[in-house]
Amino acid sequence: MKKIEHYVNGAIVEGNSGRLHDVLNPTEGKVQAQVSLATKSEVELAIAAAEKAFPAWSSTNPQRRARVLFNFKALVEKDMDNLARMLSSEHGKTLPDARGDVQRGLDVIEFACGIPHLQKGEYTEGAGPGIDLYSMRQPLGVCAGITPFNFPAMIPMWMFGVAIACGNTFVVKPSERDPSVPMRLAELMTEAGAPEGVLNVVNGDKEAVDTLLEDPRVEAISFVGSSDIAQYIYANGAANNKRVQGFGGAKNHMIVMPDADMDTVVNQVIGSAYGSAGERCMATPVIVPVGKETADKLVEMLIPRVKSLNIGPSLSEEADLGPLVTAAHKQRVADYIQMAVDEGQDLLVDGRDFVLEGYEEGYFMGGTLLDNAKPEHQSYVEEIFGPVLQIVRADNLEEAIALPSDHQYGNGVCIFTRNGSAARDFANRVQVGMVGINVPIPVPLAYHTFGGWKRSSFGDTNQHGPEGVKFWTKVKTVTQRWPDDVLSSDFTIPTMK
Ligand code: NAD
Repeated sequence: MKKIEHYVNGAIVEGNSGRLHDVLNPTEGKVQAQVSLATKSEVELAIAAAEKAFPAWSSTNPQRRARVLFNFKALVEKDMDNLARMLSSEHGKTLPDARGDVQRGLDVIEFACGIPHLQKGEYTEGAGPGIDLYSMRQPLGVCAGITPFNFPAMIPMWMFGVAIACGNTFVVKPSERDPSVPMRLAELMTEAGAPEGVLNVVNGDKEAVDTLLEDPRVEAISFVGSSDIAQYIYANGAANNKRVQGFGGAKNHMIVMPDADMDTVVNQVIGSAYGSAGERCMATPVIVPVGKETADKLVEMLIPRVKSLNIGPSLSEEADLGPLVTAAHKQRVADYIQMAVDEGQDLLVDGRDFVLEGYEEGYFMGGTLLDNAKPEHQSYVEEIFGPVLQIVRADNLEEAIALPSDHQYGNGVCIFTRNGSAARDFANRVQVGMVGINVPIPVPLAYHTFGGWKRSSFGDTNQHGPEGVKFWTKVKTVTQRWPDDVLSSDFTIPTMK
């Protein structure tokens, strides 16, 4: 059986905890590898490696750090096919989706290649007589990233790309469900020229996470995953004096106004609700048609499309979606569908009994479509994270704005309309962090920033873009006085008049 270990100090290090976690092949429905779960002392070795690497890396000039990232980008591009296959076979998303996962991470690496410009400070000449004032953005030290299963390439790169570019050293704790890609990325970073210890990967579970949270050598932690854990990381990291950002779950709404082009809406929601088996934090698992006529038309058009989704093995180039990540997650999604039925929602298409011929043990589900979900339904309040679309009918735009605004999550939202004024009003007033106007999955590009509101995000800085540089650096401001006579006279702070 293949074993997945840790990556510390520029090399693979065998785990010695004796604790192993099964890594599944969701298409086949069987165990394909085992990953070592690190002990406290193993995580401490990775932290020590990062600590040792910090002085030299942080004093490497930014242009040289950027060159390592340029090399890394080229190596990842060369390895794209291998990475996408690795990712797809552990996660279950289709190959084109897996390539997209890697590419979105690379977009952030590309952004981080601009670090010589991005990390520049500010300067005021002549702030007083003979006085100049300048600020610099310095790296924090050892930083850590704890990542979810659903974007095993993109999210680690979001974090370590910017952090390392800023001069920090890094420990990634990937999801134990699909750890191979982060391990490979660390190897490629070494090949790209990053000195030993700059990027380390420890595989593990709560024990590893708690060690990162408690160790005083770790200065900052970025977390992406479910909201309860994000809140736990935020609270405990802060209690241990760390800088923390925690990104959580989502329940994104797509608002459909009566004037929207319905063919576009249906084409878009099929991809955004069911693509990657709904296991995206920016998926749209809720659609809100405004007005009865819009709702009835939508239902009529959606039913045949959901029934004819092309579900295939993850390594397929053509499938719309592959399997869910684990049998346990598949069961959880099925339980939510039953909950929705029990709450009184209309089950228009039921994907629970779907079996893919030749892959009977795989964790496949068909698409599910539910109508008449209500704000008070638990299955609407919670994140399902599967190929399930719930229709919540609204009578007018006001009601449609209130639904995502009042929801506990506030990651993404979108509106489909031809009316610029309605779209503008919606975008300005809706209480959600990322808004799409006729764009179903409004993920901001790497040079903007990514982050939701409410229980989708804990902390006050977003991922990547200028906010990423802010999160991974601290500001130092220097007030300097060099009048001609400063060296010969007694130095006293000038009195303000
Ligand atoms: P998860 O919360 O189960 O796991 C995330 C990480 O936390 C993993 O590394 C895991 O090992 C660790 N972890 C799990 N339980 C822990 C515990 N008790 N104590 C400490 N650490 C623990 O999330 P997941 O299932 O891997 O990912 C899916 C979730 O991530 C969804 O809720 C999804 O919406 C969310 N997500 C959010 C964003 C975003 O940017 N907001 C992006 C992607 C995914």
